[in-house]
Amino acid sequence: MLEVRGLNKSFGSNHVLRGIDLAVPAGSVTVLIGPSGSGKTTVLRSLNALETPDSGVVRIGDVSVDFGAKPDRRSVTRLRAQSGMVFQSHHLFPHLSVLRNITEGPTVVQKRPAAEVRTEALALLERVGLADKAEQYPYQLSGGQQQRVGIARALAIRPRLMLFDEPTSALDPELVGEVLSVMKDLASEGWTMVVVTHEMRFARQVADQVLFMDGGVIVESGPPARVLDHPEQERTQRFLHRIN
Ligand code: ADP
Repeated sequence: MLEVRGLNKSFGSNHVLRGIDLAVPAGSVTVLIGPSGSGKTTVLRSLNALETPDSGVVRIGDVSVDFGAKPDRRSVTRLRAQSGMVFQSHHLFPHLSVLRNITEGPTVVQKRPAAEVRTEALALLERVGLADKAEQYPYQLSGGQQQRVGIARALAIRPRLMLFDEPTSALDPELVGEVLSVMKDLASEGWTMVVVTHEMRFARQVADQVLFMDGGVIVESGPPARVLDHPEQERTQRFLHRIN
């Protein structure tokens, strides 16, 4: 479903991604872990073309972009439409109702019929447990509810895969569970997901593969039982020791 080859990215003289390769099979969950500043967010944003890598190929389904070959805007836009992104903090439009937040992308950007989009958006709200919040505004919701709206909004563009960038790290502890629970549901429905998170329990329960990043490279990868419980690399061992 998703394949990345040779991704490189520098911010000025800071070489942040140093040749990232990864493959994510359809219907699988990949969890990306690693210390702060190791490049996890930059990888995720590159998959969604929110960052422009200096070189490397990102392929999602049948859409492939070679960033080293100065891709045109159309193919970058097509790549972006393949994935739905959920951010650390929700990024909802404060002046739009919950429903409008979800319908805006599909109607304005994708130009799909308003009635169809509305029906689908209401079904998505139901799916994230917020059917009764459609006409409320983001400020009237808890942080956990806002993140669930963020998930519904990302799903509304009908992406092929879902990207989550630390979706629970800005939440009060008692609100983390409701967001993880929606993510677990999506995983069990067969969504292809790439998740940056520090939630090791989620990684253990849900991930098919865990990638440990440090210093802009993927140091170690494999099933959670191996990477989290029996890491081979010293850098992985040290990181897991620090956070446990
Ligand atoms: P992580 O998600 O693992 O914490 P990031 O991908 O956010 O790591 O950041 C990796 C490195 O890239 C850090 O050194 C960070 O300061 C730098 N960086 C990220 N985004 C930008 C940006 N827009 N401009 C300059 N430097 C950035």
